[in-house]
Amino acid sequence: MTIINSKSLVEREVSLMQKQVAQLRTAGIVPKIITVYVGSDPASYTYSRQKQKFASKLGIDYGIKELADDASTEEVLAVIEQLNNDESVQGIMVEMPLPDHIDRKRVVLSISPNKDCDAIHPAHLGNLLTYSPTRIPNTPLAAISLLEEIGTDFKGKHAVMVGRSAIVGKPLAELLLQKECTVTLCHRQSQNLKAMTQAADILCVAIGSPEFITGDMVKEGAIVIDIGINFNDQGKLVGDVDFASVAPKAKAISPVPGGVGPVTNVMLFKQFVDKLRAECYG
Ligand code: NDP
Repeated sequence: MTIINSKSLVEREVSLMQKQVAQLRTAGIVPKIITVYVGSDPASYTYSRQKQKFASKLGIDYGIKELADDASTEEVLAVIEQLNNDESVQGIMVEMPLPDHIDRKRVVLSISPNKDCDAIHPAHLGNLLTYSPTRIPNTPLAAISLLEEIGTDFKGKHAVMVGRSAIVGKPLAELLLQKECTVTLCHRQSQNLKAMTQAADILCVAIGSPEFITGDMVKEGAIVIDIGINFNDQGKLVGDVDFASVAPKAKAISPVPGGVGPVTNVMLFKQFVDKLRAECYG
């Protein structure tokens, strides 16, 4: 059984990006991302600071534009419009979740797709479905990169995706389809989920339910990608997969922490840097 550790992929990509960012700076381009953070959700603020630290390691300028808890949708839209028009900013992110009173859909649609680092604007999902991807949501891309890292043979394999969110499950199902897998996409209303997961050669899980997938739900020799980020009753960070019972049956499994999460940040910056390089060098 292989534990799909993200460390070497992360180190390789970080070192490559450091060189690429230095080259861009030499060419007169100062890479800059701004995250819009509304409210006071401590987890998402911590996440913003982690990304800021990562960016500084790469040589990318990264600012956090903070708005108060009671900021209106119009105020958020005005900040995004200003960032859309600011030529010194090439990347924009909006930290989720937004406070309940904010119109999330209007905010997402207001981000210029060209600067949308999280690929949350629907244009990106549309482009992915029509096989001309502009930007791929970072977490699904991280999951595929980990599968590639261990040399997964995708062609004709049965991939089961549990979870159908627009930002993780749906795009990952599509990426697996484009890799020539036969894909089953499951959700809360799926009947006999266990029969589905047991049939998976490649099982990807993004549901937000701590250690939900147990060993009896997994086929012997399956490759398992755990995307969940949860805290269990003891306050420990765990995935959606019960590592202890699933790992002994799996051919390979991504751990939490140390699997998809760190690669997600890498993909965010990698896609950002790749785009700047394409614009700079053609
Ligand atoms: P959402 O809440 O948006 O979607 C969850 C999906 O899982 C829904 O489609 C839901 O079904 C499905 N689901 C929930 N419970 C079950 C169940 N018991 N059986 C079958 N399907 C179920 O979550 P996200 O996609 O945003 O995130 C999922 C997980 O991934 C979370 O733990 C999140 O923290 C983590 N995550 C990790 C990232 C990373 O970088 N590693 C990045 C983004 C998310 P239905 O549609 O029917 O409601």
